[in-house]
Amino acid sequence: MTPASALAAAFVNEPYLDFSKPEVWAEAESALRHVTSHSGREYPLWIAGAEHRTGDLLTSVNPSHPSEVVGRHHKATVELATRAIEDAHAYFPEWARTTAQHRAELVMRAGALIRERKLEFDAWLVVEAGKTWPEAEAEVGEAIDFCEYYARQMMKFASPEALVQLPGEHGDMVYLPLGVGVIIPPWNFPLAILTGMTVAALVAGNTVVIKPSSETPTIAQKLAEVLHAAGFPPRSFAMCVGSGSVIGDLLVEHPKTRFVSFTGSREVGLRINELAAKPRKGQIWIKRVIAEMGGKDAIVVDREADIDAAVAGVAQSAFGYQGQKCSACSRVIVDDLVYSEFLDKLRTRVAAFTVGPAEDRANFMGPVISAGAQRNILRYIETGKAEARLVTGGATTNGDGYFLQPTIFAGVDSTARIFQEEIFGPVLAVTRARDFTHAIELANDTEYGLTGAVYTRNPEKIRQAREDFFAGNLYINRKCTGAMVGAHPFGGFNMSGTDSKAGGPDYLLQFLQAKVIAEKL
Ligand code: NAP
Repeated sequence: MTPASALAAAFVNEPYLDFSKPEVWAEAESALRHVTSHSGREYPLWIAGAEHRTGDLLTSVNPSHPSEVVGRHHKATVELATRAIEDAHAYFPEWARTTAQHRAELVMRAGALIRERKLEFDAWLVVEAGKTWPEAEAEVGEAIDFCEYYARQMMKFASPEALVQLPGEHGDMVYLPLGVGVIIPPWNFPLAILTGMTVAALVAGNTVVIKPSSETPTIAQKLAEVLHAAGFPPRSFAMCVGSGSVIGDLLVEHPKTRFVSFTGSREVGLRINELAAKPRKGQIWIKRVIAEMGGKDAIVVDREADIDAAVAGVAQSAFGYQGQKCSACSRVIVDDLVYSEFLDKLRTRVAAFTVGPAEDRANFMGPVISAGAQRNILRYIETGKAEARLVTGGATTNGDGYFLQPTIFAGVDSTARIFQEEIFGPVLAVTRARDFTHAIELANDTEYGLTGAVYTRNPEKIRQAREDFFAGNLYINRKCTGAMVGAHPFGGFNMSGTDSKAGGPDYLLQFLQAKVIAEKL
């Protein structure tokens, strides 16, 4: 199928490979061998349509085996980062003049190329991000979905709904791109979130400067390979590897930066928002900031819930990818009447989880991303021991990787730090509620508002949750992770961010501005 005919077909989510099938597993092992044999390679920067080498290298490692180097990346200097913005600004008018159809076809091609290299991308996520195979596969599927979805959405914005026509006048509204966007993704979805933010900006006609996470730059370089192979012009994007603390402020503050598309922590998101708000010399616009930030997501388990389903949903949401998802369940609020039954069953289920190297498909959990993350989570576990009762876990596991046991604290008060602060690891707080109304109050007792879920069979309580549970993505009788492009547009309230609803029909509007032309007839 050509990109044009694929674009004309309806969107469907990418199906997942099943790693329990021997033929799939054989191919996965071969992809892993390929990736491992290419590990440790040096990657240049891609700025102003050319490669650059600074000799100052950032090294990324395999969190399951930290002595294994995954990639060595030349880091941008302040001068190169400045050049990246200035060149993207200079090239912007040319790229903005290309047709939406052309840009959408390039994005479709990029999606097709990721699909062709699916198992290879899975394997890069296993080795650089510490994802288990099913988690990696879901992420690669999401990256493909973003390409397929945003390409089609752009075609809708290219032919907007007709305006009301006044007598004697003809009126039109057209959507224009904004300019240079700085794309700043996190490490926890280093392919899907990066791909989504990048192709959304590009398909809308913007040029972009990508500053990948310092934990996962190799995966970002693999996306750059795909963009080149898909036919994106060399100056339409820059791959500006470097530490956020060194080049981040510069990229955000530059007067030619038109918008910043950020996904990451509350702390960095608020800093970017503040810096971007201040106009700099020569700047002629208000910068847009799209900031998707943290979560302290709760699942409510009601006395009228299917307890076994709730246990399965909570365990998966809390400990899938080691709890390192913005959507992860980090608080479970359980009705007093079923509290003991729920906790017993959850403890039993979680105690059976296997933790170890991500490449071994027998493991349900891999490592956390870094030694620093492991230390930070262990500090929270010590805080938890003082604030509540440790039910299971609470320590590292054997092996040289950054492994942590799945950890559950019970009897957690809503004022506890482990109830209020995002830990971003495999640590779950269990809290007792008097009744359903109290449970929803506790769920809302947070400065975040990203995802949430409710388990109950009672339709009146479902209605109550729909109205009162304040979260950008609310799920009923299912886990609170695993948003699907097109089906669950994703983004949160309050300190969880600007609620951009990634993977939804309104997302591209953030990368566009509307111009209205009224002509007297
Ligand atoms: P982070 O520490 O905030 O880093 C995110 C990105 O910001 C990285 O690329 C980082 O680069 C960069 N950065 C750091 N300082 C910067 C600065 N001063 N200026 C510009 N950029 C800067 O977050 P993370 O640890 O990568 O990701 C985990 C966080 O992301 C969690 O809070 C999670 O909830 C959130 N998240 C939210 C969503 C959502 O959709 N709401 C999705 C996924 C993750 P360096 O790596 O070089 O420091």
